[in-house]
Amino acid sequence: MADYTKFIAKDLPYAYDALAPVMSEETLRFHHDKHYAGYVNKLNELIEGTPYEGKTVGEIILSSEGTLFNQAAQAWNHEFFFDQFSPQPASAPTGRLAEALVRDFGSVEEFVQTMNRSAAGLFGSGWTWLVEDKEGKLALVNESNAGNPLCRGLRPLMCLDVWEHAYYIDYRNRRPDAVAAWWKFIDWKVVEKRYEAK
Ligand code: MN
Repeated sequence: MADYTKFIAKDLPYAYDALAPVMSEETLRFHHDKHYAGYVNKLNELIEGTPYEGKTVGEIILSSEGTLFNQAAQAWNHEFFFDQFSPQPASAPTGRLAEALVRDFGSVEEFVQTMNRSAAGLFGSGWTWLVEDKEGKLALVNESNAGNPLCRGLRPLMCLDVWEHAYYIDYRNRRPDAVAAWWKFIDWKVVEKRYEAK
C-alpha cells in the first residue's frame, strides 16, 4: 500500500458569495468546485503508481511535462489565485513591496494598469503573473495555458487567471472589465506575505 496522501483541493478561504458581484457565487462554485477540483482529481489519477507519488505539487511542476504538468500547474495556480482574494482586503500595498512596485513600475497605480493591459492582451487561455526575478526586480510575465513562472526560475507573487472560465459567467467576453474589477478584493496583505517569504 502506498503511504502517500492524495492531494486535496483546498477550500476557498472565504464564502462562495463573499466576493459578489465582482466574482459571483456561481462563478466561484464552477471555478473552484469544478475546474480547480477537477485539476486536483486528475493530478491524483495521473500520479497513482508512479514515482511522482509523495512529491509536492511544486516538485511535480518542475519535473514534468505534457498532461501531468498541465494538471499539476493548474492545481498550483488556482490555489495561489483564490488565496490572494479577501472580502476584507488590505486595499493597498505597504512597506518593501510598495517601494519595489514604485521602483519597478513608477507607481502602484501604473503597476495595476500595466498588469491589466498585460492580462487583456494575452491571447487565448493563460495567466498574467507578478513575479520577482533573480535580481530582485519585479516584473510581469504572461504564461499560456497552465504556464507557471517557477519553471523560469521566477518567484510568483500574484496572478490573474484569464481563462474564460474565470470570468465568462459574470462578464461574458469582457475580460478587461473582469480583471479591472477583481482588484477590489485583492488582499495586498497576502501578496506582501509572499514577497517577504524568502
Ligand atoms: Mn481558472
